[in-house]
Amino acid sequence: MDLAAAATHPGRTTPIADRTQLYIGGSWTAPHGTGVIAVEDPTTEQLIAHVPAGDAVDVDRAVAAAKAVFGPWSALAPAERAAHLDRLHAALSARAGDIATTVARELGTPMKIATKVQAGLPLTVLKSYVELAGQPESTHTVGNSLIVGEPVGVVGAITPWNYPLHQIMAKVAGALAAGCTVVLKPADLTPLVAYLLFDAVDEAGLPPGVANLVTGPGSVVGAAIAAHPDVDLVSFTGSTAVGARISHLAADRIARVALELGGKSANVILEDADLRRAVKTGVANAFLNSGQTCTAWTRMLVHRSRYDEALAIAAEAAAGQTLGDPFDEGTRLGPLASAAQRATVRGYIEQGLAGGARLIAGGLDAPVPDRGHFVAATVLADVDPDSVVAQEEIFGPVLVVIPFDSDDEAVAIANNSRYGLAGAVWSGDEDRALAVARRMRTGAVDVNGGAFNPLAPFGGFKQSGIGRELGRHGFDEFLETKAIQR
Ligand code: NDP
Repeated sequence: MDLAAAATHPGRTTPIADRTQLYIGGSWTAPHGTGVIAVEDPTTEQLIAHVPAGDAVDVDRAVAAAKAVFGPWSALAPAERAAHLDRLHAALSARAGDIATTVARELGTPMKIATKVQAGLPLTVLKSYVELAGQPESTHTVGNSLIVGEPVGVVGAITPWNYPLHQIMAKVAGALAAGCTVVLKPADLTPLVAYLLFDAVDEAGLPPGVANLVTGPGSVVGAAIAAHPDVDLVSFTGSTAVGARISHLAADRIARVALELGGKSANVILEDADLRRAVKTGVANAFLNSGQTCTAWTRMLVHRSRYDEALAIAAEAAAGQTLGDPFDEGTRLGPLASAAQRATVRGYIEQGLAGGARLIAGGLDAPVPDRGHFVAATVLADVDPDSVVAQEEIFGPVLVVIPFDSDDEAVAIANNSRYGLAGAVWSGDEDRALAVARRMRTGAVDVNGGAFNPLAPFGGFKQSGIGRELGRHGFDEFLETKAIQR
C-alpha cells in the first residue's frame, strides 16, 4: 500500500482529536490514572489519537456515580426511560457517518460494512431497546405469588474491539432500558467510537451517573470493575480466557456475570443443498470483518459427494476477497486489528499447513499490501477435525473445510468443539436441515441463509458463554426475579 496515498485518502483527512477525559457522573472529568493509550490505524500503521488510561480510583468514582443514581433511574416510569433512550438514539444517529469512519480508521473495517454493521446495527439495537424500555412492566402470577423482574443494579460492561459499538450497545442499551446504571470499559484497540457514544450521552442529557466511561487497560480497569463490590453484574464480551478470569473475580463476591465469548462455528452443507449459494455465503460469513467475528462460520463441513465442487467454489469466492484500504470502494477485506493479531493468525496458518492441511486459497505467501496488518483470505482443506486449526478460534480470515459422509457424522463434527455460539445448515429439504439444526449444541443456527435477527437472543452454549443478549432475552438478563406472596 502506498502510505502517502493512504494517509491522505479523503476518509482520513479529518484529524481525530486526542481525548483527555473520562465521562463520570454526567460530565467529562480529568482521570486519576496518569497513563495514555495510543490508538493506531491498522491500515497505515500510524498513530491517530490518544485516550486516557484510567485506573482503579477512576473505576471507584464511576461505580459510586452509577450507584448513587440507580434508585431514581430504576424508579422512572417506562415511558420516561424510553424518552431518555430515544434522545440518545437521535444524538447517536446524527453521528452515524462519524461512527463508520472512526471504526474504519481504528479497526480497519471496509466502509460498506462499517456503515451497515459497525454504525447501523448498534442504532437498530438501541431503537429496539427504546421500544422495550417503554413497554409496561411484565409480571405474572404463580398460585398466590406475583412474579416481577427488578433491575439488577450497577452493571460493569467490558467490551472487545471487533464490533466495538455494537458490543457496547448490546450491553449499555439493554441495561439502561431495564433500569440499571452502567460503567463501561471499552477495548484499548478501539476506544474512539466509545467517545462518540458518550458525546451522544452528554448531548442527550441522560441523568448524571446513569452511564459512565472509564478507558484503560483490561488488567487494571477491567479487573477493578469485575472485582468491585458495588458492581452487581459484570457483562463481558471477549476471549474465553479473560471471561474465565472475570468469572473468578466475580465469584469471590457472588456477583452475577454474563459472558459472550469465542466461537468456532460450523457451516454444515448437506449433499442436497444449493451448493453455490451455501459455499459463497459461507465464505463471505467466515471472512466478514477480516474473520474477526465471534459468530463466524470458520469450519465448513461439506458432504463428501460435493466436496471437490465446494472447494472450487470456495477458492473462487476467497479470491474475490480483495484486500485493500477500507476507504477504497473495491475493498472487501481490511487489515487485522493489530500487528499481534496478524502474527497470531499467520502462526495458525503455518500450524495448519504443517499439520497436513491443503492450501486452497490465500496462505502466508499470498500478496498483501506492504503496509498494514493484512492477511489474505485463506482456505485450508482436508483439515483434521481434532487439529488446532479446527478447534481454536483463529479470529482472522482463515476458513477450514472438512468432509463428512452422513448427517450423523456432520452433527458429530459440528459438536466436536468446546465452543457453541453459532452455525448454519443447508439442505434442499428444510425439515432435514431443521433436524440437523436442533442437534447442533450451539446458541444460534441459520438454516438455508436465514438472516441475522437483532431481536433474537444471542449467546452461546458451552465455552461460548453464559446468558443471552439482544431483544427481550437481553433485557431480561439485567433483571432479578422477585416473588411476592399474597
Ligand atoms: P480480550 O478478551 O483480552 O479483551 C476483551 C476485553 O476485556 C477488552 O476490553 C480488554 O481490555 C478486557 N480485558 C483484558 N484483560 C482483562 C482482565 N484481566 N480483566 C478484565 N478485563 C480484561 O480479547 P483480546 O482483545 O485480547 O483478543 C484476544 C482473542 O480473544 C482474539 O484473538 C479472539 O480470539 C478473542 N476475542 C473474541 C471476541 C468475541 O467476540 N468472541 C472478541 C474479541 C476477542 P484491553 O482492551 O485493555 O485489553
